[in-house]
Amino acid sequence: MKRDIHLVILLLTIIGISLASLTIWRVEASRDRALQEADTHGLNLAQALTTYSEGIVRQSSLLLLGLVERLETEGSEPLQIQRLAALIDRQQPLMPQLSGITIYDRQGHWLLSSNRPIPSGANSSDRAYFIHHRDNPSRETFIGSPIRSRSNQEWVITISRRFNDSHGAFAGVVAVTLGVENFLKLFGKIDLGRDGAIGLSASDGALLVRYPFREEDMGRNFSQSPLYMQYLVDQSVGTASFTSSLDGVDRLYAFRKSDEQPLITTVALGKQEALAGWRMESTLSFVVVGSLMAITATICWLLIQHINRRIKIEAELRITQQQLMASNRQLELLAMKDALTGLANRRCFDETLSMEARRAQRDGFSLALLMIDIDHFKLFNDSLGHIAGDDCLRTVSRVLEECVRRPPDLVARYGGEEIAIIMPNTDYPGAMVIAELILDRLLQENIPHPKCPLGRVTVSIGIAIAERESLSESHQLVEVADAALYTAKAGGRNQYR
Ligand code: GH3
Ligand code: MG
Ligand code: MG
Repeated sequence: MKRDIHLVILLLTIIGISLASLTIWRVEASRDRALQEADTHGLNLAQALTTYSEGIVRQSSLLLLGLVERLETEGSEPLQIQRLAALIDRQQPLMPQLSGITIYDRQGHWLLSSNRPIPSGANSSDRAYFIHHRDNPSRETFIGSPIRSRSNQEWVITISRRFNDSHGAFAGVVAVTLGVENFLKLFGKIDLGRDGAIGLSASDGALLVRYPFREEDMGRNFSQSPLYMQYLVDQSVGTASFTSSLDGVDRLYAFRKSDEQPLITTVALGKQEALAGWRMESTLSFVVVGSLMAITATICWLLIQHINRRIKIEAELRITQQQLMASNRQLELLAMKDALTGLANRRCFDETLSMEARRAQRDGFSLALLMIDIDHFKLFNDSLGHIAGDDCLRTVSRVLEECVRRPPDLVARYGGEEIAIIMPNTDYPGAMVIAELILDRLLQENIPHPKCPLGRVTVSIGIAIAERESLSESHQLVEVADAALYTAKAGGRNQYR
């Protein structure tokens, strides 16, 4: 039973551990999957946005190349500028992302502005892109940090090239401006959740556009951010996870560096949001598994209770059984005893006599039987009453028991005032000694008997001895003893025969 309880507990522990490990493993795997999906989603988006941005920059670059070519071959005299203005008027509607095209001379004065008349005295020699081209002989396209347009105060990105004079010296700059607003419109259409963000930066780390737009982010440089320091050093495409230095939100980043333009696109998803579905699913898993474990534990607890109850009941049953057996033994003893005298009763006498007779026959020993009868007991009762008669019977019984001391000897009430003594392994001389002792001890006991010649209670004794195989049946022994008793009575009582 105790083993059953241990087995139940072991089973419960095994089920619990397996279920818990399986759930934890499943939840971990599903978390990895959710993060992987977010990464794939981010990478795809970064790829698409990079292609889009590359296209715009490429178009702008080509447009600039054409203008530079014209300026360098035809010069930047007012007539040429006028012809260029007509060309630009035709080209600009083909590129809706373009906010404007501006041409500057070598001092930074505006020679042409595609959108409106040139404000008097307008000069951009202080702009970073102008300084870059003036001081750098490279004829490559330059993508500048976002600036506020001097014509309409909007945030714009500049893409510019320098043009030279016929001697190869710096002659001015042609710049196209791309409204940040146009990028934001597109980025805004992409659902990236509450914490999502899209960033477009130049390869030197200068932020060009960020969605969602925040004024204070403009002009920031990310060259010191983990993305640049750890990942973009040796990777042109990849994913990362860290806390944004802009707003402190934990994000999953997918980044892509353009192969042909100095551009980097970053798509960021809020980690909490990306894992929201997973979190709900795992909570559900834990609730279901937890309930399942609670139910299993309850069932096991009930089972243990049941086993414990059974253990208790069985223990009680065992005690009851033992008590019953003790009572039975007591009953058996009582069934063998005479209630009045406490001697063995007739049944016990019969069983013992036949058993001892068989044993005597088998082992070849002698067996003695003494039949003892109180003399004139009827007269005792008549003169002193039955209660005194009972007392007398008890006293005689005690005296007889005191006379017989060997363990195998049995003193039994044969019936009425007749008492029998079975003495195994006893011959006639041995039996005679006991008979004389009984007569003697009774006289000494001195129980008054008003109607007896001696004035006290005496007994007559008939002795029968089974010598080896002389008697085959126990009742024959009783008959012989009875006959001897009768002879003793007839011979005057208070004697043995
Ligand atoms: P004898 O010397 O020939 O044996 O005479 P007796 O009177 O003893 O013999 P009898 O068989 O005539 O009488 C036996 C009497 O013993 C009769 C009965 O009332 C009495 N007796 C038998 N059993 C009990 C008993 O349990 N209690 C009492 N008080 N008397 C008993
Ligand atoms: Mg009698
Ligand atoms: Mg008698």
